[in-house]
Amino acid sequence: MLDQVEELFKIVLSNIEHGVIMCGEDNAVIQANPAFEKITGYANDELIGKDISILTPDNAKASIALSLRESLNSGKPWQGKVMILGRDRAERELHLSIFAPPEQAGAQRSYAMILRPPIVDMPEDAGECLPSDQHDTLTKLPNRFLFKDRAEQSILSAARADKSVAVLIFGLDRFSIINDGLGHSFGNELLKDVAGRLQDCIRHVDTVARIDGDRFAMALQIAEVDDGVIVSEKVLKSINLPFIINNQEVSATASIGISLYPTDGENMDELSAYAESAMHHAKKSGGNQYMFFANQMNIRAKERIEIENNLRRAIQNEEFLLYYQPKVNAETQKIVGMEALIRWQDPEKGIISPGIFIPVAEESGLIGPIGLWCLKEACRQNKYWQDMGLQPVRVSVNVSAHQFKDANFLDNLKIAINESGLTTEYLELELTESLLVDNVEDTIVKLQQIRDLGCELSIDDFGTGYSSLSYLTRFPITVLKIDRAFVHDIEDNESTAEIARAIIGLSQGLKLKVIAEGAETKEHVDFLREHGCSTIQGYYYSKPLPAKVFEDLLKIGSINP
Ligand code: C2E
Ligand code: MG
Ligand code: MG
Repeated sequence: MLDQVEELFKIVLSNIEHGVIMCGEDNAVIQANPAFEKITGYANDELIGKDISILTPDNAKASIALSLRESLNSGKPWQGKVMILGRDRAERELHLSIFAPPEQAGAQRSYAMILRPPIVDMPEDAGECLPSDQHDTLTKLPNRFLFKDRAEQSILSAARADKSVAVLIFGLDRFSIINDGLGHSFGNELLKDVAGRLQDCIRHVDTVARIDGDRFAMALQIAEVDDGVIVSEKVLKSINLPFIINNQEVSATASIGISLYPTDGENMDELSAYAESAMHHAKKSGGNQYMFFANQMNIRAKERIEIENNLRRAIQNEEFLLYYQPKVNAETQKIVGMEALIRWQDPEKGIISPGIFIPVAEESGLIGPIGLWCLKEACRQNKYWQDMGLQPVRVSVNVSAHQFKDANFLDNLKIAINESGLTTEYLELELTESLLVDNVEDTIVKLQQIRDLGCELSIDDFGTGYSSLSYLTRFPITVLKIDRAFVHDIEDNESTAEIARAIIGLSQGLKLKVIAEGAETKEHVDFLREHGCSTIQGYYYSKPLPAKVFEDLLKIGSINP
């Protein structure tokens, strides 16, 4: 009997529309039902054993973890709307319930989560349609099942006619406020009126559907992108006109996300997810607007163009600075070197870090003049400090792959050295592994020419590249720099510690120097030193500092944190 009930339970779980997932106390997934797979796009075996937080967008992790803890602590279910990150990386707003059993001494505390699309509370007779029905009983519009079917038909005929389809997902802004404040039946009347207005905005060949709650969708056959814009404008205008419900005037706005077949995606699953993600973007940006999925990329492209233009001005106006971060001998605490790290002092935005503008500089070719400036400035500053009588130390300068590959690189390097008068043993170039993978023979020749000048050559971020280790013996490099990813959790992650130990061992075997970056704590430093890496750079000793501040540090010559 019990077996039968259990079996029945399994059948129910496999057939319900709600996504159900079970997790262990450590938040690792134990089991998910088929609906859960369908909702998130993950197959069961991709989820099992994974931390449940892979389903949460970064900005929602903290609040979901809190709700989970609340439910576990109280033993009571928790329910609410959350954003869930699907396998396609698109975010969807879903209704989540967490069920945790009451605490029992010594027992493992697993818990269950149930996911479903948020639905509006509706009168009994106006409930959500069953999958077998094709229309939403409240608005009489096609439901999401029929919508998918019709949209797929549109795509097929567009493909035959070499046309496009725009998929629009439309959500009312702040609908829950109206629904909660004025009552569900008021909310339902509003949804019916909205449905009517949406129908008036489209041609009879196109489809408008209510997919759930306050969300509607449209699939439009279009000849060009502008057609999607025209309909969206029309929809926004029509929704902005006041609604009169039960003699009461109410205003509403909507957010619309648009994806396009075939440019954004080839099938409805992709296109819906993209349109949905664009809609959330439109909502987050204030609502009452439409956004293309691809437009997110346009916006990013626009930002990049802005950075690029500003960078050109920055080069003209010399808006760059070098900060210096000490490299310290952990046995003696002496400063044995320094890394020059670029900063951009934008007159309006203040200090901008290289992570933001170096990639743009690389793509636009502006890294050439910027990189040359860094080389010249680092050599000049180092020589200046030596001329002041401070202890001579080596300065290392980061060289990007684009810069290194430039035919003028070696000449530029010589210019920087000659103009400054710095002895080359006090200059080190930090290169990344990616630079060593193509054009191996040419690269070896170039590296040897740099070595012949007398400069040191280090491999930055070592261990993060994908290249084979065999290259290490072929390239005339002198230093391996352990990436900070292998330092930050060295004390409590055995595999990280193992990689750090292996890199140190490798450097000893190949008679290379080794340095670790990103050491932030005494434990990091102790571990590295005990395992044979005593040259260390990181916040534990000092953050990168403006030249004037670094100068005072260099005068002292050592750091006792
Ligand atoms: P990188 O060469 O690996 O530089 C180390 C980065 O780690 C620096 O970031 C530094 O501030 C940071 N860092 C140092 N110690 C710690 C620590 O203890 N903890 C943590 N969390 N971070 C630490 P920064 O200055 O933002 O530079 C980022 C990257 O930008 C550099 O990585 C380098 O690849 C690039 N870069 C910086 N300056 C230049 C430059 O002049 N030319 C080129 N081509 N690239 C540069
Ligand atoms: Mg570096
Ligand atoms: Mg690095």
